[in-house]
Amino acid sequence: MKVGKVIKVSGPLVVAEGMEDANVYDVVEVSDNKLIGEIIEMRGDKASIQVYEETTGIGPGDDVYSTGSPLSIELGPGMLEQMFDGIQRPLEALQAKAGDFLLRGVSVSPLDREKRWDFVPTVNVGDEVSEGNIIGTVQETTVVSHKIMVPPAVSGKIVEILPGYHTVDEIICKIETDDGIKELNMIQKWPVRRGRPYSRKLDPIRPLVTGQRIIDTFFPVAKGGAAAIPGPFGSGKTVVQHQLAKWADAEIVVYVGCGERGNEMTDVLMEFPEILDPKTGQSLMKRTVLIANTSNMPVAAREASIYTGITIGEYFRDMGYSVALMADSTSRWAEALREMSGRLEEMPGDEGYPAYLASRVADFYERAGYVKCLGEDREGALTVIGAVSPPGGDISEPVSQATLRIVKVFWGLDYALSYRRHFPAINWLNSYSLYQDKMDKFMDESIDRKFSAHRIQSMALLQEESNLQEVVRLVGRDSLSEADQLKLEVAKSLREDFLQQNAFHEVDTYCSLPKQFKMLNLILGFYDEAKKALDAGVYLDEILKIESREGITRSKNISENELEKFDELFETVKADIEKLISEGGNSNA
Ligand code: ADP
Ligand code: MG
Repeated sequence: MKVGKVIKVSGPLVVAEGMEDANVYDVVEVSDNKLIGEIIEMRGDKASIQVYEETTGIGPGDDVYSTGSPLSIELGPGMLEQMFDGIQRPLEALQAKAGDFLLRGVSVSPLDREKRWDFVPTVNVGDEVSEGNIIGTVQETTVVSHKIMVPPAVSGKIVEILPGYHTVDEIICKIETDDGIKELNMIQKWPVRRGRPYSRKLDPIRPLVTGQRIIDTFFPVAKGGAAAIPGPFGSGKTVVQHQLAKWADAEIVVYVGCGERGNEMTDVLMEFPEILDPKTGQSLMKRTVLIANTSNMPVAAREASIYTGITIGEYFRDMGYSVALMADSTSRWAEALREMSGRLEEMPGDEGYPAYLASRVADFYERAGYVKCLGEDREGALTVIGAVSPPGGDISEPVSQATLRIVKVFWGLDYALSYRRHFPAINWLNSYSLYQDKMDKFMDESIDRKFSAHRIQSMALLQEESNLQEVVRLVGRDSLSEADQLKLEVAKSLREDFLQQNAFHEVDTYCSLPKQFKMLNLILGFYDEAKKALDAGVYLDEILKIESREGITRSKNISENELEKFDELFETVKADIEKLISEGGNSNA
């Protein structure tokens, strides 16, 4: 290890001289406390280092050791059900070792070195293998089989393979390569700023089903896609992120809490073990990795937490899994970039953010994807969903703009909606999904052939509503024809009975695609029947008074295993309206 000396400390930024042999992005240890940092700029022999821990007490003259390697994490069994900090230190083990306060310079192995995993080989001595090939599996949790893969850039013939119980750092396989024998254990070290390789990117074709109606039906994100959810404080970003972490049909969830309140991560830790995955019947933590760099933790590590999270996501993608990563909030990461840039006295760009903000944001989201993995014929997906917190909710600011240029799905949270307690407060008039066409095809083929037609008709009604409301504001509701007033009623029903979804209601918190379809089918079915009645001369008031409309309002709480109730409900609506037609159809004629 080469040694340099600290000459200046400014918050998380430490400048050291005598570092001529070091490189940008090398990890260094600062002072005898061995605080972890990363070189972010080199000028001559002077290195500017962002330190991932509190720098109080560090001063000129302290030693700086360069490790000569970039910031890397350990990938292998033992990540699921864990909560790590931004540089992959397991928080529980860290606290056990250091207590609540003094977390500085404590080194704890990211992966448990004691635990033994039952390694079951899937290859034999003599087999030829190359990068990405699966050589065996470990049942990491009750729901996830962890594939042990040949690391990138290794290939050759298996000369020894050792089934049975091993710790992560014991040799389990020896491969004869062109450069001699390569010994493998269950750990892959990977530099977090570099995307993990795959064979090629594929066009996303399937939706990530989230169980959230406004998302799945109107603004779907594809498996392997990227979405952003900007919104002002209190508009529901975190609730949406938590809902996705709970209900999205991903096999692995990586949740990065970046610069937000620590109690939100505690909530996840308390809640997730209790919630059972509807598919597996097992606790949600069994498929989840948490990364916490909350507001009370060092600012510089926010960036590391984002990269650590996405690298873990890519690693599970490489196994052939569908992974969903949520980052809450990417704005806090951008603010950390801005702070470091300011301390480095770089030329500021828009609103003080560094000029490279947009390319950093793009690099992050571009690591999402649906891919053909290295190795055997298998596909994996990494879907990325980033929360953005624009000050005052104004998305013309640089972080929102940089994000919107790269993601294909925009869920715009709206202060006015959240103020009216319309949740999720996603504005249906300005949100969009560029995956819509492909997802329509999937929905029509696998849920109902009328799915996309219903979606289009519903969105048209919602858009018409906003135009009609303008007219109502100007000249009053009575100036509208009964047909237009009916449209307003149906749009209201779409908003209140379909779009609004209570994250905290036992049934309503999750809504399957078939149920989403049936709900729309019911609302639009009422609309069709009501139009017939208007045509037959029934007064709109009479139609709106039918008792079975109550059932539409309550339909969101019909449980998933009683979906046949929707058909019964529709039959009653139809009968009620037919009765009106036969009774008084000519009263209005
Ligand atoms: P943000 O992260 O944007 O600051 P939060 O996600 O913390 O906002 O949401 C603020 C509050 O809004 C929540 O505590 C909750 O009361 C309410 N809320 C948000 N989304 C929903 C939802 N889908 N269902 C019910 N309440 C919600
Ligand atoms: Mg929040």
